[in-house]
Amino acid sequence: MGAVRGEASGRHLKKGSTVTLHHHTSRTPLNRPEAMDSRPPSEAAPTAEHLLSQAAVELEAPDIRGYRKLHPFWPGIDYVIRLQSPRPGPHVLIQALTHGNELCGAIAIDYLMRESIRPERGVLSLVFANVEAYRRWDPEHPHSNRYCDEDYNRVWSDDVLNSTRDSIELRRARALCAYIDSADFLLDLHSMSAPCEPLMVCGVREGGGLKAVELSRALGLPRWLMMDTGHAAGLRMIERRAFADPHAGAVAVLLEAGQHWEMSTAQVAIDLSLRFLAHTGTVPPRWAQSRCVLPTTHQQVIQVTEAVTAQSLDFVWLGEYQGLEIVPDQGTPVARDGDLSICTPYPDCVLVMPTRARFAPGQTMLRFGRLL
Ligand SMILES: [Zn+2]
Repeated sequence: MGAVRGEASGRHLKKGSTVTLHHHTSRTPLNRPEAMDSRPPSEAAPTAEHLLSQAAVELEAPDIRGYRKLHPFWPGIDYVIRLQSPRPGPHVLIQALTHGNELCGAIAIDYLMRESIRPERGVLSLVFANVEAYRRWDPEHPHSNRYCDEDYNRVWSDDVLNSTRDSIELRRARALCAYIDSADFLLDLHSMSAPCEPLMVCGVREGGGLKAVELSRALGLPRWLMMDTGHAAGLRMIERRAFADPHAGAVAVLLEAGQHWEMSTAQVAIDLSLRFLAHTGTVPPRWAQSRCVLPTTHQQVIQVTEAVTAQSLDFVWLGEYQGLEIVPDQGTPVARDGDLSICTPYPDCVLVMPTRARFAPGQTMLRFGRLL
């Protein structure tokens, strides 16, 4: 896969040192935004680290501090860039940093800004989400700081947002939710702990999943499109309101662009962003095409049938799974969770997004899926 082109993004790519497994962060990286909140981190729930990916950190986190107050009056939310065309059109939103250690989205938005992107119609919003987790992220301890207090992508039900509960992530979600709800098209840029091929998370089939698959097919990338069952731990942003209503026009997709810190992951995020912007009419197709590097591909849809959540801290994989392996035999053991054996529930079962990160009981570790 090609390297990220252009001087602008090239500076974010480096040959990295090997990942170390400590997770205590004692120094503040200089290129992260200033603190939004001085509250100390909450007491962490017990977590296990024995599954951590050993992937090298090839990408460099861009300095995003200059984007904090770019539009201080409207929408007046820190780290929300709003670019408006005089011509009417949809509100198209690209979000980065839902998770603080997933660099590709920040690199993609920084790339678009350095390419002087301007919408030719409608509104383009470029949003850095969990900026506090990103500020704390340290390449010496890359598995840390996926979030500060809780997973930012599990707090998006109105019940949780309107509750009295408090966390750094909830404050940010409350600041952003009305703005997110105003988007007609949302691309949420993520990456994965395991070195898996890129895939598009299209959400729950009957909850907007089919229209997200249709949008992803129009983009021509990535190869794998996944409809799933959501997360037991809480609602994701792509499942909010109109995005989850099959009869509403709004569409949201979530790109898992590759392994968190691999160089190719940034290119996938950039190419998908360009294709998304061309498809939604935000930029001229020629402008996007001249900057795209990756060819389109034959796409396949996976229907996730069930998610496997960790019951204990003793969860272990029985193979070196990266994700998207197809296991031919029903009943093949793929993981052990304490005394529990996790087996494939049917023949030709696809293993989707096995976790290679720090985890806690209750967290999704793997999904089982069928090829459609
Ligand atoms: Zn993520």
